[in-house]
Amino acid sequence: MAAPVRVAITGAAGRMGRELIDVADSRDDVEVVLAVNRSPVEAVSGVPVRDADDLPELLAETDPDVMVDFTGPESSVEYVAACAEAGVGVVVGTTGFDEDGHAALDEAAESVPLLHATNFSRGVAALRRAVREAVAALPDYDVEVTETHHNGKRDAPSGTANTLLTEIDDVRGESERVYGREGDQPRMEGEIGVHARRAGGVTGEHEVLLADDHQLLSLTHRAGSRGVFAAGALDAAVWLADRDAGRYDFDEVLDA
Ligand code: NAD
Repeated sequence: MAAPVRVAITGAAGRMGRELIDVADSRDDVEVVLAVNRSPVEAVSGVPVRDADDLPELLAETDPDVMVDFTGPESSVEYVAACAEAGVGVVVGTTGFDEDGHAALDEAAESVPLLHATNFSRGVAALRRAVREAVAALPDYDVEVTETHHNGKRDAPSGTANTLLTEIDDVRGESERVYGREGDQPRMEGEIGVHARRAGGVTGEHEVLLADDHQLLSLTHRAGSRGVFAAGALDAAVWLADRDAGRYDFDEVLDA
């Protein structure tokens, strides 16, 4: 069997960081050689956690093949630049990047392989395909996108909801988006309503609703645990490890 891919994990004490460490521990194809967090934490599931401020030196010291980053947009840009400098490939799961953030990812991808996905679950990849098909088959239907996440999520709407909206625009052309509704606000023809709910510990739920006066089609994905995202991100890390510099897509990992 090939040697395990050496992985560095940022945001190790976060929800996704912890999940990544636990899922990596259950697999033979990856080995966590570095875990960092911005605030001090001794260890996560027995893996020592180092100070994220020292990332450049730690990358040189531990020589990972790929860094897996699920943190925040500002820190992600900083960590990705450190990887570009160190020649370490990057899997980015962080969401909420602005235009400058995306440009920073593009710039890093000139030096190292980089894969960013707003959702690393196979179910959502299937949902995206199903949405494209449904929107193409039902061109005049009203469309509403609703997502629900835990009460600690920062960005809204979710990265996955934005990805679904891009899929819809790809098929229909760009349309007006209405983020929630209040007061006297009848639905305009062709608009897409977007709704973000935040409650309790919900891992992630996305619904694309298509309706006309006589029929309603609801396409829904629910993530049962963060383990599905961690598994997909680690699959991506293994796939990315021996690629050339450039920007890659999670669909390429799924199609491999
Ligand atoms: P979390 O708040 O539980 O953890 C975030 C971690 O990142 C923490 O360890 C925190 O210390 C660190 N962090 C955040 N901002 C930072 C900053 N400015 N500087 C340094 N460190 C910082 O969040 P989470 O639920 O683990 O989610 C993390 C990110 O991953 C979010 O952007 C979320 O939307 C995204 N996410 C993506 C997927 C996917 O499949 N792509 C799945 C789940 C979550």
